[in-house]
Amino acid sequence: MNNKFNLQKLCKNLIHEIEEDSNRQNIIKLSIDASIPKEFYGHPEVCEELLKEAHNFFADKIVNGIINIDLIKKSENEKETTLNIKISGDDNITHLTSEEISDLISAKLSDLKNKFEDLENLVITREGSALLFTSTFQNVASKAQKKPSTSLVGKQILIAEDNEINAMVFSSFLEDWGCISSFAINGLEALQMVQENDYDLILMDIHMPVLNGIEATAKIREFDKNIPIVALTASDLEQDYNSAQLAGISDYLIKPISSQLLRSVMSKCLFDAIDES
Ligand code: MN
Repeated sequence: MNNKFNLQKLCKNLIHEIEEDSNRQNIIKLSIDASIPKEFYGHPEVCEELLKEAHNFFADKIVNGIINIDLIKKSENEKETTLNIKISGDDNITHLTSEEISDLISAKLSDLKNKFEDLENLVITREGSALLFTSTFQNVASKAQKKPSTSLVGKQILIAEDNEINAMVFSSFLEDWGCISSFAINGLEALQMVQENDYDLILMDIHMPVLNGIEATAKIREFDKNIPIVALTASDLEQDYNSAQLAGISDYLIKPISSQLLRSVMSKCLFDAIDES
């Protein structure tokens, strides 16, 4: 899955982690092209592992030397940015001939290529005595770019709430935004309705009879991992929060809930966007 991540932060954290290691003998120098965007969509865990592997490769060969990690922007368009991540050691690889280094790098390259073959668009090459990763990352749209629509008009929302007054309050907010509301008065009814209908989002009260909101969420997650479920509760008990998280809720609101907060959470869940209206 593609996740939003901050590549610069990832590199800095990684270096920090390496520097904590008491066996470390080398200095790591990180240099980041200032024009590289802060955030991308991609595979942070793979980037991290790749950098670790590359670092270890040089750390094994260099004693009391310098390991350079350079992030260089290769190209960029509206949608994506291609980066070169270059890892190199200084010339302090004393005991090895250039041929030996060359052989080692070639071996490491095929290792890495095999390991990360499922990662499309990652190219690993060598540049002299450096390892070079070239990868294309999806840009995170900046605010200046076209704003995605966060209109809620026509969205099908299931309100699972045993308290009639609360249900009325939520549905009046939703009506103002052009949503179409359906109602369930307990968790079991909510579960059945989700099985039979196609909703865009569920507002799920936690404390309900028959099947509570947490149990209902867990059951829904057995067949639908994606539908946003926003838990609603009158208490801010940590225990509630933890079990709701475990059950797979998308977000959590504590009553009384203002229309503004509800709208912003719904927008976040539906569009992964900050609602500014
Ligand atoms: Mn309730």
